[in-house]
Amino acid sequence: MRSGTDASARHRVVIVGLGFGGLEAVNGLAGAPVDVTLIDRRNHHLFQPLLYQVATASLSTSEIAWPIRFLMERRPEVTTLLGAVTGVDVDGRVVLVEDGPLVPYDTLVIATGAQHAYFGHDEWEPFAPGLKTLEDATTLRRHILVAFERAEIETDPQARTALLTFVIIGAGPTGVELAGTIAELARDTLPRDFRRIDTRTARVVLIEAGPRILGGFDEGLAAYAQRSLEEIGVEVVLNRPVSNCTADGVVFGGERLAARTIIWAAGVMSSPAAAWLDAPADRAGRLQVLPDLTVPGRPEIFVIGDAVVLEAPDGKPVPGIAPAAKQQGKHVAKTIVRRLGGDPAPRPFHYKHAGSLAQIGKRRAIIDFGAIKLRGALAWWIWGIAHIYFLIGLRNRLAIALSWLWIYTRNQRSARLITQGQPARRHSETPGVHQPPL
Ligand SMILES: Cc1cc2nc3c(=O)[nH]c(=O)nc-3n(C[C@H](O)[C@H](O)[C@H](O)COP(=O)(O)OP(=O)(O)OC[C@H]3O[C@@H](n4cnc5c(N)ncnc54)[C@H](O)[C@@H]3O)c2cc1C
Repeated sequence: MRSGTDASARHRVVIVGLGFGGLEAVNGLAGAPVDVTLIDRRNHHLFQPLLYQVATASLSTSEIAWPIRFLMERRPEVTTLLGAVTGVDVDGRVVLVEDGPLVPYDTLVIATGAQHAYFGHDEWEPFAPGLKTLEDATTLRRHILVAFERAEIETDPQARTALLTFVIIGAGPTGVELAGTIAELARDTLPRDFRRIDTRTARVVLIEAGPRILGGFDEGLAAYAQRSLEEIGVEVVLNRPVSNCTADGVVFGGERLAARTIIWAAGVMSSPAAAWLDAPADRAGRLQVLPDLTVPGRPEIFVIGDAVVLEAPDGKPVPGIAPAAKQQGKHVAKTIVRRLGGDPAPRPFHYKHAGSLAQIGKRRAIIDFGAIKLRGALAWWIWGIAHIYFLIGLRNRLAIALSWLWIYTRNQRSARLITQGQPARRHSETPGVHQPPL
């Protein structure tokens, strides 16, 4: 099945992106007669569902990310390359890496995920950063913590109020989890640390363009989540699309709100896999794969995870969530092994939805298992156990369990470290800057 001249050489699989889909694919190829090359522009696999906890100082970066080389240390047949893929020469069967070598493949798996989308308003990005990478999370953490620090030294009441106003745009699971955790940070963790401000006066405003929060969840669970958020002090604004974001605040539904922290949790766009392959895509840039996850006309190329759009058997699109990417990675690995065993028949991918989970606050979560719907403390425990179960390695599981126990019992968030950016500087030392950057 190998292309090229050396028929005795092993089949070369190249996997681009070691997120949830890519990792499951390479794991599924363990023991198969293949040489695998992994290419990722970051040196780590990231557990994105807990990114918001890094952004809100609950967890530290190394608790939710693992160096790819460490994950592959016992896989001598796997070569890892750190580099950004910029395209694919589908006729020559090589992957193009920025400032790197051409990487030849017999089978290519693209699992490059998604990125933020600002619905045609990319100019908002500097003022309303999103959350996708570890860098995004530590930048946000810095931004949030510096806002409280600046408020402590700010003498102008209006400026202080703006510093203590945190806006989250988009009320999907990430927006809800961020809003709940920032509210708890301000309400439970920080009050003891500050002397001149009462951090409990901070406003956390969650803005949603649609008629309700958590659009993908059951209505009853979403209503419970909204009540819970409001009980911990989050202001939920519905049916008010945002029309502008600046350094000074946000405009929504014609109203302007002064806020120095705006977080974007409203939309994603696929990575450019479809453009690399000149393949059909939907409006979000997701490649329209065939039911067996291959690219039309290119059976040797699979694209999986957030980079694709695919219908589940019920006619609904397979959701852009970690379990879907993992199931697809597993399916691709099985297909490759089957093909190498002489069975080339394409088999459609079947997505199995295990359920949807979201955490609202320290002791509250919602879980939608379809027939079974849970809310409150029990759901929170199940949410916590499920997330710990899906982490990699005993050390991280124990570390996160301990961090959560500390937060649960003592309201302590130990990762309150301000890193990156400029050291503290007074407003007046920055000539010509109206609002100092946070
Ligand atoms: C903040 C946040 C919270 C989330 N919460 C949940 C949740 O609670 N539950 C849930 O199920 N899902 C959640 N998701 C969604 C889930 O993380 C994604 O659906 C899942 O990660 C998709 O897996 P993937 O393999 O397609 O892509 P990813 O996991 O995003 O991996 C893509 C990989 O490709 C690499 N890459 C991208 N472009 C290139 C390039 N050009 N060259 C080289 N490498 C590249 C990236 O570095 C990355 O390692 C969340 C996502 C985010 C951002």
